[in-house]
Formats: sequence, C-alpha cells, structure tokens
Amino acid sequence: MEKISVIVPCLNEQEVLPLFYKETKKVLEEMKNVCFEYIFIDDGSCDNTLILLKELSLKDPSVHFLSFSRNFGKEAAMYAGLKRATGKYSVIIDADLQHPPHLIKEMYRILKEEGYDSVATRRVNRVGEPKIRSFFAHLFYKFMRKMSKIEVVDGEMDFRMMSKKMVESILSMEEYNRFSKGIFSFVGFRTKWIEQENVKRVAGNTKWSFFKLLQYSLEGIVSFSTKPLLWVAFLGFLLCLVSVGMGIYIVIQSFILKNVVSSLCFFSFLFLMISGMQLFGLGILSFYFSKMYLETKKRPLYIVKETDEDA
Ligand code: UDP
Ligand code: MG
Repeated sequence: MEKISVIVPCLNEQEVLPLFYKETKKVLEEMKNVCFEYIFIDDGSCDNTLILLKELSLKDPSVHFLSFSRNFGKEAAMYAGLKRATGKYSVIIDADLQHPPHLIKEMYRILKEEGYDSVATRRVNRVGEPKIRSFFAHLFYKFMRKMSKIEVVDGEMDFRMMSKKMVESILSMEEYNRFSKGIFSFVGFRTKWIEQENVKRVAGNTKWSFFKLLQYSLEGIVSFSTKPLLWVAFLGFLLCLVSVGMGIYIVIQSFILKNVVSSLCFFSFLFLMISGMQLFGLGILSFYFSKMYLETKKRPLYIVKETDEDA
C-alpha cells in the first residue's frame, strides 16, 4: 500500500485542529489502497495546540507531531515536516481548512494517473481579503517575475502534493533563509496547477500581519534575484556618464571658448563624478558579493529526476 504523508504546520490552531482532523480523516478514509500519516508541526504555539496534538497521537497511531521550542516560522515547519515524512507522496496543508481536504483525493489521482511529480494549487480570487493586501500581493508576483528567472505563480498556495523524489530535492536545498514558493519552482519537476476559489478560515486568525508578509516577499526577492545589485552598478555607471558629459562641457568652456565656468558647475561635476564612481564600484563589489552569497547557499548544481537505475 502506498503511503501519503499529510504535513500540517500549526501555530496557535486550537480552535481549528479538531475540525481539521475530522475533515481530513473523512477524506483519507474514503481513499482506498492508500495508507497515510499525519505530521503536525507545532510551531511554538502558546495555546493548547500541543496538548491537542498529544491527545490525537495517543488516540490515533497515524498521527505524529513535532513541537518546536519556539516559533521558527511556517517555512521551518514545512521543512521539518517534509524531513520527517516517510510517505511515497507528501502533501502540505494548512490547519485552518482554507485548503480543502477533499482535493487530496484529486491530487493523488493526478499524480498516479497523469504522470506529474507535483500538484499545486493557486487561488483564482482573493475574496474576503483586504483590498490593499491583494493589491500588494499582485504587485509582488509581477515584480518577482521581472526580477528573477524563477517562476512564482500569482496566487500560489503552499497546498501541494509531491512525489518523494521532489521532496528529497527540496530537502537538498538547505538554505537557512527559505522561500518555498521559489524553491518549489527552482527544483523543477512537472507540476499540474489546480485553480481554487479563496476559502475563509473556519476559526482563529491569520498569523500573517501585513508587515510579516512584506518581509516574506522581500525574502523571496533577495533569495532568488541579485538584480537589485546590478541596478546599483547601473545607476553608478549612469552618474559617471553624466559627469563625463559635464567634464567635457567644462573643458570646452574654459580651455577652448575661454569662458569662466561657475564654481557651482565645477563642484556639481566633482560631486557627480565621485559619487558615480563610488556607486559603480559598490555595484561591482556587490556583484562579486552576490556570487559569494549564492555559493554559500550550496544549492544543488542539478537535480536528477530519473535514471536507468530507477527502473
Ligand atoms: N503557521 C505556522 N507558523 C507561522 C505562521 C503560520 O506554522 O509562523 C501555520 C498556521 O498555523 C497555518 C498555516 O501556517 O496552518 C497558514 O497560516 P495562516 O492561516 O495564518 O496564513 P494565511 O492563510 O492567512 O496566509
Ligand atoms: Mg490560513
């Protein structure tokens, strides 16, 4: 029998956990010829989440949990869950039922029958979300597409099922600053997208403040793009060009046309030239720095999906 690992990051989810367990259990039990395990990650909750998880694991041997010593963030929770998973397939799902559990069935069918390595979900609308948050979310995805070679799909959710091979390759990316949406895309593999209407949380509150989301999107850009550094070099180069133009103007005025050049013009020239050169130098330096930065991440050079030895 094939095993599916259900990975659930939880931060203060006491209100939704019993309902989540009931709903998913119903779906999983309808699936024939598969067994499953739950891996709950208590991400430093300060409510009764851990107590509930302990109770569940005593009652149901398919329930496993890890409890972090403090809040390490959803990214760390997902990594820990994937690391612990032993199933042939792993599905990451939120505890608040915003990710409809019945889709697990469909995801499994697609992986089995259609030859994909991963099934991911994206929301097609953002009903119920503050307008300003949706606006910035769209802006982020657009910006990300321009800034990086990595494809991050607008509305992408963390709800996805993956094959073991894909999970292993995600685990091989051991970088500390993690941005999973980028990592899923970086590792490649064939992914089928399922579109999904936005669903409201059944209870409890979102753990993401606007500021936390902003920080997370900056993380995404910095983790997968070094273009901002190139802009610095480009701006410096531009300033240098302008100062060269001014320099030529000053030489022509004072040495050929014998006109007096105002001191303002001369100092502007000096100022532009010096700051342009500094910025350009900084840009070049950062370029080397960006290479070093990528080296320290120790990302795999390539990821193998299949070889003759698998057969
Ligand atoms: N979560 C977590 N650690 C965090 C923040 C969130 O494990 O630091 C979990 C949370 O318990 C939930 C999932 O990640 O199961 C998604 O969080 P949330 O529903 O708050 O985010 P939203 O759906 O509003 O984006
Ligand atoms: Mg949620």
